[in-house]
Amino acid sequence: MSKFWSELTASLTPYVPGEQPKDQKYIKLNTNENPYPPSPSVVEALKGVSHADLRLYPDPTCESLIHAIADRYDLQADQIFVGNGSDEILAFAFAAFFSPNRAIRFADITYSFYQVYAQLYQVPVERVPLDEAFNTPLERFYYSEGGVVIANPNAPTSKYIPVDELRAVLEHNPDQVVIIDEAYIDFGGESAVKLISSYPNLLVVQTMSKSRSLAGLRIGYAMGNQELIEGLNRIKNSFNSYTLDRLALAGGVASLQDEAYFETTNARVIQTREWTTAQLRTLGFDVMDSKANFVFITHPNQDASQLFQALRHRGVLVRFFNQPRIDQFLRVSIGTDEEMQAFIQALKEIVG
Ligand SMILES: *Cc1c(COP(=O)(O)O)cnc(C)c1O
Repeated sequence: MSKFWSELTASLTPYVPGEQPKDQKYIKLNTNENPYPPSPSVVEALKGVSHADLRLYPDPTCESLIHAIADRYDLQADQIFVGNGSDEILAFAFAAFFSPNRAIRFADITYSFYQVYAQLYQVPVERVPLDEAFNTPLERFYYSEGGVVIANPNAPTSKYIPVDELRAVLEHNPDQVVIIDEAYIDFGGESAVKLISSYPNLLVVQTMSKSRSLAGLRIGYAMGNQELIEGLNRIKNSFNSYTLDRLALAGGVASLQDEAYFETTNARVIQTREWTTAQLRTLGFDVMDSKANFVFITHPNQDASQLFQALRHRGVLVRFFNQPRIDQFLRVSIGTDEEMQAFIQALKEIVG
């Protein structure tokens, strides 16, 4: 608490990102980063950026990247918005579409940044409880007063809602924006992008951080009806017109031009996820069926926080959430085969 803080600043509970430790080398399975490097074409594109041109502002309209995304998803350029990571886009979307006098809905167990943005913009929230198996009761999102946010696949549960089931939520909220956060959609789910032409209230948000191995470059994008994209641009241009720098623009375009690499690395992550899931079940863990690049696991007779510590002690970092309902779970990102073998080996030593 400081006397210099505004009332708003004093009221915030900021998001806590997963640790990026510097004390020793860990097998890092705690922040859902991709274990593979970005496409070699991204590396080439970054080298190709003129250093001299860094004195110039980047293109505020991000035209090259927006066109590459439009081509990739068969949309018009005015149906695309890009931002400095999808977190920034989500923040802009809360400001653009949600209001302080109308409650929005999201799940009780979901990406914790939604609550942070709601607090920042003073938007009231009705949290919808997931069922015992962490399935989403979609009817409870019908007729929201202020809007809806759903992560699909959900984080940290890894559970996926078949995209056609989301239609009902869109149909029952004709006057509210429904944000579908698809940070993990490329690991086996089907995107809601195909519904954009039918539902003007749908905003699909994706990121290059996970499936395109570009967490360090900070590129997110949103796809939806022109009015929604214009709303996001109004907020962006009231905040910071240059959200993506020259490197990010070049790297993002190059990533979209190498779909073969994207498909190969994603297939590898999925294969490793399935192997890891089978191994964990053999060790007695309950593992949610995952369509993400992480698994959400619990063990009937091992305490999750103790497991977390024991793994850390063996140089394996996973994510533990000290939160109601999920404090006996661990979220484990999918690394390389070698990393996951080491993770399983460490668990064998711990759980015997
Ligand atoms: C990782 C993640 C994001 C944010 O990704 P950026 O790196 O900011 O693009 C958004 N939503 C969910 C559910 C995530 O897990």
